[in-house]
Amino acid sequence: MADSPFDLTGRKAIVTGANAGIGQGIAVALAKAGADVALVGRSSAAETRDLVEAEGRQAIEIAADLSSIGPVSDVVAQAVDAFGKIDILVNNAGIIRREDALDFSEADWDAVVDTNLKVLFFLSQAVGRHMVGWASQSGERGKVINIASMLTFQGGIRVPSYTASKSGVGGLTKLLANEWASKGINVNAIAPGYIATNNTAALQADADRSRQILERIPEGRWGDPSDIGGAAVFLASRAADYVQGHILAVDGGWLAR
Ligand code: NAP
Repeated sequence: MADSPFDLTGRKAIVTGANAGIGQGIAVALAKAGADVALVGRSSAAETRDLVEAEGRQAIEIAADLSSIGPVSDVVAQAVDAFGKIDILVNNAGIIRREDALDFSEADWDAVVDTNLKVLFFLSQAVGRHMVGWASQSGERGKVINIASMLTFQGGIRVPSYTASKSGVGGLTKLLANEWASKGINVNAIAPGYIATNNTAALQADADRSRQILERIPEGRWGDPSDIGGAAVFLASRAADYVQGHILAVDGGWLAR
């Protein structure tokens, strides 16, 4: 495994929003590939911590409410204190608010854009400043992986701030790749399709919407967080050293229809 281009042994990762759903799937997949993981979020990540430790890897929890950039520098300092270095950042924490565009409130706009876009940028900036300190001399590359969405490519309906934020994530992924590729950092994104998590609980519970969604997915099933974990291992690994500014759809074929 050690000479596999997908091996992450000894690599140190931050995953935000890792207590459940896609973040948990990514944290466990990174651990299976050999990485130690800092689990950053506002809820206890004890379950994810146990799953990472069961893979024989180190997990630390860092408590932080990522609805504002207040905790960003402290999150990076705690991860560097614990691990000595950060090799991989997965910007996964995100929220969604549903309402008709005609009735959409400023509060629902700000909450979603702040968490999904503003904090993603400033956490990437803080980790990027740390990575440029070692990446270009050591020959190893830092990896930033943003969690985008089908609404990075499509308009969606009744989710204006989510669509704006995830479209912004796509643009920032490319901008950061342009600026940081020469500094030893890869910046890419994963665009999950319809994954069975808390984020999509309302859609899964709506029998009509769920049937319509499944009819369009060539794979014929909702995705599982572990489906996203494999893509994250790829983008975090040496196998993706020449992949830059890419938004990798993991959607069971949704966009192909
Ligand atoms: P989820 O289970 O609701 O996970 C969201 C995660 O973000 C949770 O860990 C949540 O923590 C965390 N989070 C939200 N606000 C936070 C805050 N202020 N501070 C710290 N952590 C915060 O849903 P998910 O589907 O796994 O979502 C993960 C990411 O995938 C999101 O960026 C989402 O937009 C994206 N995504 C999901 C789908 C899908 O089909 N599920 C599709 C495309 C993109 P709490 O548990 O404490 O709220």
